[in-house]
Amino acid sequence: MLFPTHLAAAGLLSRLIGRSPLWLVVGAAVPDVVDKPLGTVGVTALFHSVGHSALLAVVMVPIALSGRRGLAVAIGWASHLALDAGHVVVNGRPADALFLCWPVVEPPDPLAIPPGSFFWYYLGTPSFYLELFIWGTLIVLVVRGWQNDRLSAK
Ligand SMILES: [Zn+2]
Repeated sequence: MLFPTHLAAAGLLSRLIGRSPLWLVVGAAVPDVVDKPLGTVGVTALFHSVGHSALLAVVMVPIALSGRRGLAVAIGWASHLALDAGHVVVNGRPADALFLCWPVVEPPDPLAIPPGSFFWYYLGTPSFYLELFIWGTLIVLVVRGWQNDRLSAK
């Protein structure tokens, strides 16, 4: 899933569960902010590694237990993993979801496309339309929020 969509989905999720949008968005950014640079410079062979591994729960659970902000960060991080795993399944590559087990198990045939090139590969895939739905929902909620603000200001 594209990075901006993870942030938008975290914003939507914050409205659904009543948590801080800022900290959910921060948590949702963590996997790509950590892993894309590592993959780009060749530290890891995959673009889904440390930040996308469910084993990072060893760090995220204590963060979640540290308080409301920490819980929001952990939920945002988990939402990123869930959306990325869902996206590869929707796009017919369920074995790619094994990135969740990195470094214990790795996907047998990962796409390994750099982030910039990935965007062009990704356009028109089934998961891309799911992203359009997320953005459409966000736009509707923002417009409704503006309308409600204008009505309550009168
Ligand atoms: Zn990701």
